[in-house]
Amino acid sequence: MPLTLHIDQARWREHLRSTWNESIVPVAKGNGYGVGNARLLAEAAALGAKTVAVGTYEEVPSDPQAEVVVLTPWRPFVRTQVGPNVIHTVSRLADLVSIPARSRVVVEVQTSMRRHGIGARELRHSMLMSSLDRVRFEGWSLHFPMGAGGYAANIREAAELGRQANAVRKGPLWVSHVPATKLGDIGENVRLRMGTGLWLGDRGALTVRATVLDVHSVRRGERVGYRQRRVAGDGHILVVSGGTAHGVGMEAPTAAATVRQRTIALAKGGLDAAGMALSPFTIDGKQRWFAEPPHMQASMLYLPSSVTPPHIGDEVGVDVRFTTTLFDQIVMD
Ligand SMILES: *Cc1c(COP(=O)(O)O)cnc(C)c1O
Repeated sequence: MPLTLHIDQARWREHLRSTWNESIVPVAKGNGYGVGNARLLAEAAALGAKTVAVGTYEEVPSDPQAEVVVLTPWRPFVRTQVGPNVIHTVSRLADLVSIPARSRVVVEVQTSMRRHGIGARELRHSMLMSSLDRVRFEGWSLHFPMGAGGYAANIREAAELGRQANAVRKGPLWVSHVPATKLGDIGENVRLRMGTGLWLGDRGALTVRATVLDVHSVRRGERVGYRQRRVAGDGHILVVSGGTAHGVGMEAPTAAATVRQRTIALAKGGLDAAGMALSPFTIDGKQRWFAEPPHMQASMLYLPSSVTPPHIGDEVGVDVRFTTTLFDQIVMD
């Protein structure tokens, strides 16, 4: 009775193909954007990617066919032995000195993100020059913010930092979060690491469905669930697949919607309504309330009597955040 991700494979692969070009480095990390890293790496290979990126050393495939860039910077406490296909990210001068000699290395330069990276001023440090000779230098890495106000600032910053870095040692620039069409504005030999835009860029190709596991009719004021809350009105309690173990309900509902919806619920006389939250499950075209916080693998929803309840075994829609959801199954339609 699963939480299922349906992938319209023709449409999904069409999006992958139309997005893909030789500059792109597909990123497969974490929960594999909901799709799973093994599947993403297979798709990357089918696209013709010769280089992919993973998040951590633990995510490096055991027998990588492509070059694999590890995005989390190398640190002296990294114990993993890696094969010749692995490219490390080094983000501190001290690590460039202590990483095993002849390691393949991309050097990360700090950007306005302020996450990892050697500061632009440190680029001229004489130790950096000499340390670069110890390793196989594979280029510079620049990681940018999401570009909420457009990507122009990221492009300007990338061009400037890229110019400074290339003055130290010429190499490919590995960037994130700039449009694929703008790489030429940054410089030559720019590679774009891309996850979300590639795998989840056409949301219409992906549909998430939960299964109705149980339906009970209830009267207003009756108590239900672990917390024995009173229901807000006559109607039905639905038990649907999808709980905290899947990542369902782990995200705070947006404040504005919650306040408004809570006000409506209160106005309608919901007894425990003030403590209710809008669920990501959609029935009859509307998002429905959790009857109580989601359980580990299922959720209890309240459906008012004005709505005909679905049948046990029916599927209902769910709106999830793909990077935090673990699906029971993935069906390629
Ligand atoms: C995760 C990550 C990416 C991919 O980000 P998306 O927003 O999913 O495209 C790119 N670069 C770095 C350094 C990352 O950690």
